[in-house]
Amino acid sequence: MNGVNGVNGVNGVHDDQLMDGYDVVVVGGGAAGLNGALMLARARRSVVVLDAGAPRNAPADGVHGLLGREGMPPAALLERGRAEVRGYGGQVVPAEVESVERAGDGFEVRLADGRAVRARRVLVATGLVDELPDVPGLHERWGRDVLHCPYCHGWEVRDQAIGVLGSGPLSVHQALLLRQWSADVTFFPHTMAPPSAEEAEQLAARGIRVVEGEVDSLEIVDDRVVGLRMADGELVRRDAVAVAPRMVARVGFLKALGLEPVPHLAGEHLPSEAGRTEVPGVWVAGNITDLAAQVGGAAAAGAAAAGQINADLVVEETRVAVAVHRRGGAGAPPGAGERPVRAGRGE
Ligand SMILES: Cc1cc2nc3c(=O)[nH]c(=O)nc-3n(C[C@H](O)[C@H](O)[C@H](O)COP(=O)(O)OP(=O)(O)OC[C@H]3O[C@@H](n4cnc5c(N)ncnc54)[C@H](O)[C@@H]3O)c2cc1C
Repeated sequence: MNGVNGVNGVNGVHDDQLMDGYDVVVVGGGAAGLNGALMLARARRSVVVLDAGAPRNAPADGVHGLLGREGMPPAALLERGRAEVRGYGGQVVPAEVESVERAGDGFEVRLADGRAVRARRVLVATGLVDELPDVPGLHERWGRDVLHCPYCHGWEVRDQAIGVLGSGPLSVHQALLLRQWSADVTFFPHTMAPPSAEEAEQLAARGIRVVEGEVDSLEIVDDRVVGLRMADGELVRRDAVAVAPRMVARVGFLKALGLEPVPHLAGEHLPSEAGRTEVPGVWVAGNITDLAAQVGGAAAAGAAAAGQINADLVVEETRVAVAVHRRGGAGAPPGAGERPVRAGRGE
């Protein structure tokens, strides 16, 4: 397959060598960005994915709930995606984007290493950061026996003793959800207010014990969680711990465009209309705009945004072509297949 070892095998261009400009620059090479780039490369658009290489689910053993690829390690899934994009002539370059600014009727995308590329359109798929409560042990076990999403990890901890650490407005809901996977769920309000009377009734009705008091740390023995150590010294034995991280979209580098994160019940996100932002020419897909999107949903959103971007470019190119046509036809912009795109499997 083309694209292995960082080289686009069809035309020999090394994947780290950036061209001056692209039809589309995709920022972020997780499920959303790569699926967007795959669609754009197959639409014969020149496209580069600039990726800092820290997908959100990196600590997890496998991607679950994904049809056709159930349980595949996250890194293997993305490696396959990168190869597919490269196979159609798209580039995937390890790089961190520092800023995106307007430049003429397009954009200038600046990288942290000082390079810059021009883009006619930008697809931003930089995901989010999970901010965990400051409890020793949580970071170390994150994505292993500390989890947040029952659809990602619930099956793996079924019938185990699960502790739910109160850490956000959805924590009681999370405890009620996890009861679907295990009859042994304990809720720790920790530093949150105790459950309301209604919530306490719901928890009691579902057999979920509430342990009040602050949690000091997770107790870890032989590379696994064995319980939660309370501030008063008591150890409450648990096999797995659920938390509700504060989910914060990675949008800082879009500030010059006026795109700012907006508060959300679970953190901060960048709102969009089916991927379209309020800045014409800039689309978003995946966790940056939909904090709850799983891998399949993020990939689908990237693909859908790519379709919109291609259609938007076609509208612009048609408008230019009509204007040239009315003047007598000379110098019309190239159409599909005439544009000097990088060669790939689709050529
Ligand atoms: C522990 C854990 C386990 C999970 N398990 C599952 C599961 O089993 N099944 C499932 O469907 N979902 C799972 N998820 C959710 C899954 O991680 C997300 O749905 C998915 O990662 C969203 O894809 P994305 O493309 O939006 O963002 P990401 O996958 O996070 O990709 C964003 C990419 O953008 C890059 N980036 C960020 N900023 C920049 C920048 N400035 N310049 C360049 N690149 C940048 C990042 O480095 C990263 O590579 C899990 C999440 C976590 C936290």
